[in-house]
Amino acid sequence: MSGPTLLEQLYRLQDRLRFVQSRQRERDTVPEELSEVDRAYRERVETLDGIRERLAEAESERRRAEGDLSDLQEKQKKYQGQLRSVQSSREYGAVLNEIDGVDKLIRTTEDRVLALDEEIENARKELEAREESLPRETEEHEEKLKDWRTTQRGIDDELAAAATEIQEIERQMPPKDRAEFHRLIEKKGGVAIARVSAGSCSACHVKIRPAAMQILKNGKEIVYCDSCKRILYWDGQP
Ligand SMILES: [Zn+2]
Repeated sequence: MSGPTLLEQLYRLQDRLRFVQSRQRERDTVPEELSEVDRAYRERVETLDGIRERLAEAESERRRAEGDLSDLQEKQKKYQGQLRSVQSSREYGAVLNEIDGVDKLIRTTEDRVLALDEEIENARKELEAREESLPRETEEHEEKLKDWRTTQRGIDDELAAAATEIQEIERQMPPKDRAEFHRLIEKKGGVAIARVSAGSCSACHVKIRPAAMQILKNGKEIVYCDSCKRILYWDGQP
């Protein structure tokens, strides 16, 4: 049994080189669905941080409002005391006005405290729910990344196997043919050798002359496509 012919080697070499190229691209491209998953997860973490921040703000706002309220209540008491000791009706009216103003401020501050209480309660509930589900979400997210890392490692293994095969084929090839092949690969957009398909060059689709086809079938010489100048490969199919 004889080994592969030079043409068969060239064809396989090109196939492996193209395989390496496309698999490398695949390995270095984060899958669409994963970048979406990644974005969604980061968004959830950011939302959680946002709620925590807002909760802390609301709590300090509430403390300030409570402080304002007790100041206002002090003022209210003071004016009520003044009311009992005023001498004239003009003075009495002025103190009543002050009391009126303070009462209004007390009411709006109380409303503010109530609104903050509601906001704080809602934020705490949401925070609790989100904090409860975050560990599971984090785990799921890492699990998805893990799958991608495993896929990448699998591709790396395939690439290593292809690199070994490429080395082996090139080692067996005459250096002149190897150099010519690589020159063509460079010049012809990665396709140096083109399969003959239904009597035509599969790269440029130009019909192959019967005489050239005859030489190709003999399998002793390298035949180039008249049109695109690539090496022709005939695999025995009519
Ligand atoms: Zn051609």
